[in-house]
Amino acid sequence: MSKDANTQRMEKIVSLCKRRGFIFQSSEIYGGLNGFWDYGPLGVELKRNLKDFWWRRNVRERDDMVGMDGSIIMNRAVWKASGHEETFSDPMVDCRNCKGRHREDQLPEKDGAKYCPNCGSRDLTPPRAFNLMFKSYAGPVESEDNLVYLRPETAQAMFVQFKNILDTSRKKLPFGIAQIGKAFRNEINPRNYTFRSREFEQMEIEYFCHAKDGLRLTDYWLEERLKFYEDIGIPRSKIRVHDIPAEERAFYSKKTYDLEYEFPFGLSELEGIAYRTDYDLSKHIEHSGKPLEYFDDVTRERFVPHVVEPSAGVDRTALALICEAFDEETVTDEEGKSEVRTVLRFHPRMAPVKCGVFPLLKNKPELVAKAKEIVALLRPHMAVAYDEAAAIGKRYRRQDEIGTPFCVTVDFDTIGENGPEKKDTVTLRERDSMQQVRIPVADLKNWLLEKIS
Ligand code: ATP
Repeated sequence: MSKDANTQRMEKIVSLCKRRGFIFQSSEIYGGLNGFWDYGPLGVELKRNLKDFWWRRNVRERDDMVGMDGSIIMNRAVWKASGHEETFSDPMVDCRNCKGRHREDQLPEKDGAKYCPNCGSRDLTPPRAFNLMFKSYAGPVESEDNLVYLRPETAQAMFVQFKNILDTSRKKLPFGIAQIGKAFRNEINPRNYTFRSREFEQMEIEYFCHAKDGLRLTDYWLEERLKFYEDIGIPRSKIRVHDIPAEERAFYSKKTYDLEYEFPFGLSELEGIAYRTDYDLSKHIEHSGKPLEYFDDVTRERFVPHVVEPSAGVDRTALALICEAFDEETVTDEEGKSEVRTVLRFHPRMAPVKCGVFPLLKNKPELVAKAKEIVALLRPHMAVAYDEAAAIGKRYRRQDEIGTPFCVTVDFDTIGENGPEKKDTVTLRERDSMQQVRIPVADLKNWLLEKIS
């Protein structure tokens, strides 16, 4: 796809997300706030489906994983030990001409010289380190002693609670801790819609193991994570696995894979899978003075566990799901009129609404009553949309545009007006093929549950 086509595609996606209530600018009525976003009624369902499925796959369905939910603000000592206070920074330059501030590694370059992407000036300050952690104060006094940070990643809580979790869950190595939660980074240049935000959510795993298993488990997690993306509708062929060369990895990492998705704005990181060796636990042992070692009662060995960290972004994955699902196709209706159908081809598992339920006519009480009965039948099990306004074709289009995989219509056959054979059956229409089948109401719930679970 050409650059223009990709830009246009992204514009259409952003506009659809706003129009249909997936994503809004934060504080929009006051002009917004750069790098912050609100998820609307459909966006929050999409994110919830994603997080729930991640949790199910990585925690509930496994014996070797447990979850936790740590606080966003932690003792400042955590960030001193982890190195974030000292080094979690981007080199930043200011443009002396337009006063814009940019990340040095992202400046465009022409004829060997970097220039300001806003105004084109080459009059730039030398790079300076800019710490990405948001600061606040715990308690009423704004003193150095009370300084705290909003966490820039969820990972550290899993390291500092390693011992508590080990002792209370009685897990043996290898085992992992999983966490989903907000993280904050004062990004110099938030951009590409929600891709680079200042407030975002992460889904992280710290998988602890013996040193001898570290490399093998890194490859194991790479495979697990690729399977996960496939299971939510992002095929392997759309993900580039970037094996980060040694000179670009953090010095303590023995292997790092970046999983990159082909967004309309270019190939960009969805997730990092890093074999971090025993760096994190060792740092916390050194700074806290607490023993965070593991004792293997079979080999009688005492050691600091190594860790493999698959770290994914909720917002980036949600955006990838939307980009992957977005499609426009020309369809011809029964009268031979063609139109462009906008459709979000979400995997049914991820779709914000699973089933639309329509009475054929809104002024026919029996149809309406039966449709509402079906809504009540499905609602405890899934997100359902009831719609009685406008022609059926239009109602289908509305659901196509938000990615609802199935719609059922209650018609005169359903209420037995055309004989007993089709009584208590409905028309079930599938979003992608637009094919319709007749299905007994009694089978509907299980049929749908199988498709969305
Ligand atoms: P980048 O190089 O894009 O800044 P990173 O390598 O610093 O990302 P990590 O520190 O590895 O990212 O964070 C793990 C995951 O958290 C990323 O793969 C991404 O999905 C998510 N993430 C990180 N920063 C942001 C952000 N500013 N906005 C949204 N998601 C983010």
